[in-house]
Amino acid sequence: MPRTFSASPVRDLLALTSRPEVISFAGGLPAPELFDVEALRTAFDQALSRRSLQYAPTEGDADLRALVADRLTRRGLPTGVDDLLITSGSQQALTLVVTALLEPGAVVAVEEPTYLAALQCFQLAGARIVPVASDEHGMVPAALAEVVERERPALLYLVPTFANPTGRTLTAARRAEIAALAERHDLWVIEDDPYSELRYRGEPVPSLASMSDRVLYAGSFSKVGAPGMRLGWLRAPASVMRTLVIVKQATDLHTSTIDQAAAAVYLKANDLDEHIREVCAAYRERRDAMIAALPSTVPPGARWSDPDGGMFVWVSLPGDVDAASLLTSALERDVAFVPGAAFYATTPDRSTLRLSFTTNTPDDISEGMRRLAAVLR
Ligand code: PMP
Repeated sequence: MPRTFSASPVRDLLALTSRPEVISFAGGLPAPELFDVEALRTAFDQALSRRSLQYAPTEGDADLRALVADRLTRRGLPTGVDDLLITSGSQQALTLVVTALLEPGAVVAVEEPTYLAALQCFQLAGARIVPVASDEHGMVPAALAEVVERERPALLYLVPTFANPTGRTLTAARRAEIAALAERHDLWVIEDDPYSELRYRGEPVPSLASMSDRVLYAGSFSKVGAPGMRLGWLRAPASVMRTLVIVKQATDLHTSTIDQAAAAVYLKANDLDEHIREVCAAYRERRDAMIAALPSTVPPGARWSDPDGGMFVWVSLPGDVDAASLLTSALERDVAFVPGAAFYATTPDRSTLRLSFTTNTPDDISEGMRRLAAVLR
């Protein structure tokens, strides 16, 4: 008999969002019309060779590692080629880290709510998940200190910048406190960072990994390039890297050679930063359209996050409502969102929901929010 894992009933509901008449704020997808298709087509064409159809080293394509190391270094996180392992999406980086670092029954501390598929990954690894209190500025360091004393977690998982699902960003001061705590208590930290380059206002915040060697940094091509290529990277200290490479080898030998080669050609021939500026310009308008519509979409007393970047707005409805039951009425009106309960490791706040603004135009967002207002108000 296979092991049983809990599946989300909401998934079945969300399958209905693919009906073309539905305006979906549910998926966490980048906008496909903004993919750099022609430049990627050229890159794949140039990259396709006997070598790129062959097996390749587990650590990843040497050119791609050098290009990623250079990008991270320029963004304030000094990185050498040997600090990097190319992964099949940053999702795989999470699996590799938990396999490399966690004994069965180990404790993983998380902010709550947090990224659903990370919670699933920790559950599959047999970890015990312990939530740490957060507010609109991210995880509260004093609450983490208390959890570290009480639970002795082996690992802390954070999406410090433009978090999924809340859109929140951990302040620089709190990052420094959390990095210091990790060092004092030999705590490993995963900084999961697929969103920080999608910034629409304000100044970049230094990465946690730039503050401590206890931080393993996971980055991704998915939100700035194309998620279908399944390309991510993990920056880790040498002491852990050896084990991570063995785990990666046992998992899938290496990430797709042709996809890595194409990404390397693409990064050499194109200005990714320029492409990201175009994507950010479009997402900024979509974010603004959603934020502008929220006061007339939600009932009085509701609260929502006002993210500086990323893909998500997090809404808390007033009173004793269950967002999952509202989803059924929303789908009847051809609009969709994700009920927030799934993002909680322990006691869910059922009055919450996640709205993604990336895949709809401002006009469609306005129309979708009008439909949603009929359900929520
Ligand atoms: N981490 C977070 C916080 C995410 O939101 C996502 C994607 N939704 C991932 C990791 C996985 O991204 P990738 O495509 O790089 O595996």
